[in-house]
Amino acid sequence: MHDIINYFSTIPSSHRALILAGGITFFWILESFKPFKNFKYNKWHHAGINIFFTLTTIIVNFFLAIILLKSAQWTIDNNFGILQWLPKMNNWLYAIVGLLLLDFIGAYLVHLVEHKVKFLWRFHLIHHTDTWIDTTTANRHHPGESVLRFIFTTLGVFIVGSPMWMVFLYQSLSVLATQFNHANIVLPKRLDNILSYIIVSPDMHKVHHHYKLPYTDSNYGNIFSVWDRLFGTYSSLDRDNLVYGVDTHMKEEENNRLKNLLLIPFQKYRSSND
Ligand SMILES: [Zn+2]
Repeated sequence: MHDIINYFSTIPSSHRALILAGGITFFWILESFKPFKNFKYNKWHHAGINIFFTLTTIIVNFFLAIILLKSAQWTIDNNFGILQWLPKMNNWLYAIVGLLLLDFIGAYLVHLVEHKVKFLWRFHLIHHTDTWIDTTTANRHHPGESVLRFIFTTLGVFIVGSPMWMVFLYQSLSVLATQFNHANIVLPKRLDNILSYIIVSPDMHKVHHHYKLPYTDSNYGNIFSVWDRLFGTYSSLDRDNLVYGVDTHMKEEENNRLKNLLLIPFQKYRSSND
């Protein structure tokens, strides 16, 4: 654990970029061997749009990074946050508790809020308009959503009282987890099912991308599945019955044009037929 702490305390930006690019490449290769769905799409054009949104997410986080750094430092200097108030514990346990809580606030909670608050849904909607879910969908986030997610991550750092190495470790695992659970891959059903008791498996997250409610409003988790199971937001759907997208926005020409996607939050609200 010492080595992990040392590595993530001083992880260079280039390594963080490498984790992100390496993850996309790895899952992209897996997808081309044995895809879950045989999409009739231009994979490069689709990836181009999603990678654009990945880059805007990186830019938002780059400019705000100093706030995150200062917040983590402040919690340690002032002995503030859940981890600081808990009795001294083994490093592994300390990391697991911290990662679980960061995942709860920085992923599960913000995601739940995005689905429940109409104004925020307008921004998150872009992520759900993708009807060809693959590993590049992972960071298809409107810049407005990236800012909101950053705010919740920072809030998480304050509440959890996590040191910076833990934040970097969390962010790296979070990127790989989202690339994994969006990837257009298929695991043996039994394995997927067993995994879904610990982490968010591909089948579990794909249910969240089913085009109709109530499925869209379930399975909000990113790394750990415990939060959905604990708060009753877990749901399952046979993988053969999955239809990706969101029922209010099913037009291909709308969902694959960058300008339109950027403007979606400011367009007239469309309510679901349900
Ligand atoms: Zn969502």
